[in-house]
Amino acid sequence: MNETDQDLGQPVETTDVVIIGAGPAGLWTMFEAGVIGLRCVTLDALDRPGGQCTELYPDKPIYDIPAVPRCSAQELVDRLLEQCAPFGFPIHLGQRADSLERIGERWRVTTREGRVFDTATVMIAAGNGAFVPQRVALPEAAAFEDRGLHYAVRQAERFRGRRVLIAGGGDSALDWALALRGIASHITLLHRRANFRAAQATSDAVKAAEAAGQIDFVVGTLDALQEVDGQLAGARVKTLQGERDLAFDELIALFGLVPDLGPIARWPLEARAGRIPVDTSNYETALPGVFAIGDIALYDNKQKLILSAFHEGSLALRKAYAYAYPDRQRTHVHSSYDAALQEKLASTGR
Ligand SMILES: Cc1cc2nc3c(=O)[nH]c(=O)nc-3n(C[C@H](O)[C@H](O)[C@H](O)COP(=O)(O)OP(=O)(O)OC[C@H]3O[C@@H](n4cnc5c(N)ncnc54)[C@H](O)[C@@H]3O)c2cc1C
Repeated sequence: MNETDQDLGQPVETTDVVIIGAGPAGLWTMFEAGVIGLRCVTLDALDRPGGQCTELYPDKPIYDIPAVPRCSAQELVDRLLEQCAPFGFPIHLGQRADSLERIGERWRVTTREGRVFDTATVMIAAGNGAFVPQRVALPEAAAFEDRGLHYAVRQAERFRGRRVLIAGGGDSALDWALALRGIASHITLLHRRANFRAAQATSDAVKAAEAAGQIDFVVGTLDALQEVDGQLAGARVKTLQGERDLAFDELIALFGLVPDLGPIARWPLEARAGRIPVDTSNYETALPGVFAIGDIALYDNKQKLILSAFHEGSLALRKAYAYAYPDRQRTHVHSSYDAALQEKLASTGR
């Protein structure tokens, strides 16, 4: 950190590469940045790394990573994190990259949460965009956000002694229905079907909690939100038997996450259908020193595969090095011939 952003009053962190997105593309690129001697900082809008692997299919087996015949998606993410750990590069979670500005020969990336980075290069590894919660599709819902309507549980204690309606039938909804027992004064779980979209063990645990009278389970959909004295106080719900009213103090809607390219769509990158055209010799975009790798990169015959993301990140960094250190000649050395690097990496793997 060496200066303060004039407008935001925030310290500016200086680095060689800002990686936007901690999915497989971003995590592998972090490792490669360390190998070739670049400093880097990674940002992700979510509160955990892993991108689609962690958010969409953590337990699904992956069979097409070279030299790894089979691993689960979460295991792959854990191994990538282990691989980059020796370099100690920061991963700033819960930080959505919001603006990109050219300042002289460098770039300034600012997050929605107010962090500011001064960098020689930017790797956009944002996949399909930041994942945002799928919202309640009722016109009155937006007005209740954070006033009784929640799309995530940040602190369970916030719900102590409250009557809670949890809407959703996936793992998060069920996990929170179970976790808030003994904290909330009453829990109702609302899902449009009698069957859940969650791990069998979690579904079984919820059914057992229902049988034990710890959770009420209602099959139905939200039809209207009701307020009393400006506070969210209940909802009219459509069920197979007709309409009924549910009274509660807090509504936690956990309908899953949807990708949203968000602010990146407004950056001058000629994005098409949420993807950014690149030069395939180095994955640079139309902006000098700004690269797009992984699912967000657009070029002929692009395959949305983790393997392709690894290749794109590795090549992009070679060009990034030239931006970060224009006066240095980078000579390629295999990591196995670099003694200092070997010592650093010796702690990883078996
Ligand atoms: C069900 C399913 C199964 C799959 N199976 C396989 C398989 O077997 N093998 C295979 O190779 N591929 C598979 N894929 C594809 C693979 O998951 C993707 O190719 C890979 O995740 C792309 O990685 P990425 O890092 O480019 O993007 P992502 O994994 O999408 O990660 C992007 C990250 O960027 C973050 N982000 C976005 N915008 C911002 C912003 N403005 N600020 C901060 N952070 C931001 C997001 O929160 C996200 O964490 C599968 C995909 C799905 C959906």
